[in-house]
Amino acid sequence: MTKYNTSHLLESVVRLTSLRDQHSLEICLIKTLQGLIPASQIMLFEISGESGKQMLRLLVDADSAHRGRVPEAEKHIIPRCVEDDPDLMQCFTTGQQLVSTEDDGSGVRVIHPIAGVNGIAGFLTVRSGAFVEKDQEVAASFLHIYQNYLQLINDSEHDTLTGLLNRKTFDERIMAIMAAHRAGQRRAADNKAMQCCLAILDIDHFKKVNDQFGHLYGDEVLLLFAQIMSRTFRDDDQLFRYGGEEFVVVLKEVDLTTGLAVLERFRKAVEAYHFPQVGNITASVGAVTISEQDLPTTIIGQADQALYYAKENGRNQVCAYERLLQEGKLTGMVPSQGDIELF
Ligand code: GH3
Ligand code: MG
Ligand code: MG
Repeated sequence: MTKYNTSHLLESVVRLTSLRDQHSLEICLIKTLQGLIPASQIMLFEISGESGKQMLRLLVDADSAHRGRVPEAEKHIIPRCVEDDPDLMQCFTTGQQLVSTEDDGSGVRVIHPIAGVNGIAGFLTVRSGAFVEKDQEVAASFLHIYQNYLQLINDSEHDTLTGLLNRKTFDERIMAIMAAHRAGQRRAADNKAMQCCLAILDIDHFKKVNDQFGHLYGDEVLLLFAQIMSRTFRDDDQLFRYGGEEFVVVLKEVDLTTGLAVLERFRKAVEAYHFPQVGNITASVGAVTISEQDLPTTIIGQADQALYYAKENGRNQVCAYERLLQEGKLTGMVPSQGDIELF
């Protein structure tokens, strides 16, 4: 039976809680458990998709914990759906830890459920020669520490009113988004497929909403506006509350024409929505495609210039920086770093 050394356990907790992002936390959880309990395989899964069709996505296993990331192609493992694995399905439905004997008699698989806001959000699976209660208690405890800490990280990354990613997260992620985009563009044979579009969405005359109906109704408009964003854009797109009534969306893998069509669909959805008490509002959008050599400040500056143009020319419209340049409506002057102030 495994003997647990208290100082070793505490060191592991300290290491786990020193991390600041979800992926590092996942890797650390798996490495920690590998170092503590005898197991032939430890895997962490996330459940995604609608109810009735819960898809499984591999977050980390021993191999990827070692390499630092799960290759995209390996994230979709077999079975792809929770319902295709009766044991996972049972754990999903009951929310209880489940121990099953391997078909070939080689040992056991213990499935630990991960609770989310709307039920079970994932699983930690541990394969070993035999079931040892103490080992699984340690696994379950570390899983709880991981979940609690993940919740704290999530809270610090999101805006409390709208639930979208906050400005701090935007500042931290934009460099990474652009670096990933550059790497993707270099890999893609057809660069167009890897284009990315950033847009600033700003509510028109929002001050009037506050003045006329009060801050509480203003806040509700912000929340509902964010919900329209979540409904309109894809799961892969990153949505941020950038400032008071300003939002940013990064649309992944779209060319400018497609990006503008998506943004126009969003603009129309806002225009058509009836906000309780307040009635109808509109929004203006400034968009730009992210190109390889750009700096984050340049990108934001260009989207802001397009937004400024949209505001100055009637509001309730989507304007793209490149199109305005082509049409001679903008000079292409980019504000120097530090000068950028959103509309
Ligand atoms: P424009 O069409 O030019 O964008 O006009 P605007 O009134 O939307 O823009 P302005 O920048 O003049 O006003 C933004 C207002 O947003 C002012 C501020 O009181 C309000 N605001 C910022 N953050 C919040 C918030 O969290 N809640 C509420 N209710 N109002 C906010
Ligand atoms: Mg505004
Ligand atoms: Mg504004």
